[in-house]
Amino acid sequence: MSRQDFTRRSFFGLAAGAAAASMTPFALASPSASSGRVRGRQVKNIIWMVSDGMSMGVPSMLDHSLQLSHGRRSVWRRLMTDPKAVHGVMDTRSLNSMVTDSAAASTSWGSGVHVLNGALNTLPGTADLTTLYDLLGGEGMKRGLVTTATITHATPAGFAAAVRSRSAEPEIAQIYRKKGIEVLMGGGHEFFSGEERADKKDLYSEYQASGYTVCKSKSEIKKAPKDKNLLGIFSKGQIPYTIDKINSPELDEKVPSLAEMAEVALGILNRGAKGFILQVEGARIDHAAHANDLGAILNDQMAFEEALQVCLNFARKDGETLVVVTSDHGNANPGITGAASLGKDNGLLRVPGMKASFEVLGNDLKKAPSAEVIRDLIQDRLGIGITLAEGHLLFDAAANASVLKPFGNYRFATATLAMVVGTYTGVGWSSGSHTSDYTLLTALGPGAELFEGMVQNVDCFEKLLSVRGITFENPKMTLEEALAAQAKENDSKGSLQASIDPADEVHWV
Ligand SMILES: [Zn+2]
Repeated sequence: MSRQDFTRRSFFGLAAGAAAASMTPFALASPSASSGRVRGRQVKNIIWMVSDGMSMGVPSMLDHSLQLSHGRRSVWRRLMTDPKAVHGVMDTRSLNSMVTDSAAASTSWGSGVHVLNGALNTLPGTADLTTLYDLLGGEGMKRGLVTTATITHATPAGFAAAVRSRSAEPEIAQIYRKKGIEVLMGGGHEFFSGEERADKKDLYSEYQASGYTVCKSKSEIKKAPKDKNLLGIFSKGQIPYTIDKINSPELDEKVPSLAEMAEVALGILNRGAKGFILQVEGARIDHAAHANDLGAILNDQMAFEEALQVCLNFARKDGETLVVVTSDHGNANPGITGAASLGKDNGLLRVPGMKASFEVLGNDLKKAPSAEVIRDLIQDRLGIGITLAEGHLLFDAAANASVLKPFGNYRFATATLAMVVGTYTGVGWSSGSHTSDYTLLTALGPGAELFEGMVQNVDCFEKLLSVRGITFENPKMTLEEALAAQAKENDSKGSLQASIDPADEVHWV
C-alpha cells in the first residue's frame, strides 16, 4: 500500500479515547520508618513523566497550535493554571558538561549523582550506584517503565540499571528481569529476540519463565492480566513517530500510543498496599528535535500530553499520587520567530497538514530524481507549496551537498529541510543538538511542594525517596576525580565511557 492510500488522520485526530525478583538488601538504606507522609498527606504512588529533549518552545508551540486550530489550551498549560500545581525549572547539567545527554540526565534522577555523559548510574573505577528503583522496590513498591524509545534506552534505564555505557542495551534488557521491574513497555525487539541478539538468548522466553506476560501488540496489552508482570515490546528500534503511526493503518493497529501504554501500566501497577512508581517517557520529542522536524515534534508532544491526561486523571481520583512532569534537557530550542499573526496565515496552522516525519520523508527525498519531484513530495507530505529554487536547495541537501554543510549546527540535510519549512511556518531551530537550557517542571499531588522553584536534577533522587521516608546517599566524584579514574580504568581495561548521544547522528543523508 502506498502512503497516498493511507487513511490519514490529522494532527488533531489523535485518539480521543486516550485523552483518556527479588531485590538485594541495601546496606545504606534506612529502614522504612516513615509513614510516607508529606505535610500530612500520604504519598503512596509516584508518576514521573519526561518529555525527552523538550525545550520550552515545544510546549509553547503546542499550546499556541491548539488555540489557533482547535480553540483550546494544551493539557500541560491547563495543569499549570491548576491552583494546586507547583511550578519549577530544572537545572539539567551533567558531571562533565552543562549540556547533558539522556543517560547522565536520567542518572541524576535515578541515583542522585552527576556522572559523565553516556554513563548510566556508574562512576569510573567504582562500584555501581544504587538506583531509585532498587531502593523503592526494596520497600515493596511496584515499578514501571513506559517509553516510546527502546525500553532499554537511556532515560528508562536511568531509574533501574547501572552500566558503564548507555549503549549496553542488550545487558540492560537482562538487568530489568533480574531486578523484577514489574511493568516494561516500549520498543527494542532486537534486545529481546534470540534471533537478533548476538548471544542468541531468547529473553522473551526468560521473561515468560519469570512470570511475565509478554506482549507485542496493542490488542495484547489490553487483554493482559492485571495481576502479572508485563513486558510489552512493539517495534524493532524506537517506536515510530506519532505522525507516521497515525498515518499508517498497519502501525496504528499494532503499536499502542504512549497514553494507551500508560493506562495499561497504571492498571497493573496499582495493586498491593505499598504503592508504585511509574516513569513515562515521550522519547521521540528528543529525536524530532535532533532532526528539526516540526510536524514530528508537535505530534509526539501531543501524544505525550494524552499520556499526561491519563496520569492526571488517575492521580486526581486517587489522591495519594505525586505526579511530576518535566524534561531531562533542552534540544535544538525550536520556536516561533517574528511577528506571528493570529490569523489564518499563522505558520503553526500548517502543522495539521503535515503527514510524515522527516525520517520517512527523507527516504523519498533521497531517491527523488529532480527538484521538481522534491517540490511535489513536500506538497504531498507536508502540505507546503515550496518554490522550485527551494526544491533545488533540498535536492542538493539530499545529495549530501547542502549549502549549509559548512555550518556545524546546520550540517545535516534535515537542517536545510527545516529552514525551507521554516520559511512557511515561522519556526526556527538553534541546532540539531542538546542545549543547556533549564527545563519546565510541574508537579501535582502530595509532595509536589518539594519541586517548587529552581531544582537541581540530582536533588530529585533525594526528594523522591523522602516522600516515602527513605534516606540514602550514593558516592559522588568531582569531574577531576572522575576523569583521573576514567583514565586509569581505560589504561587497565581499555573500557570506554560513551560520551556521545547516538541520537546526535539523526539525519537522512
Ligand atoms: Zn538526544
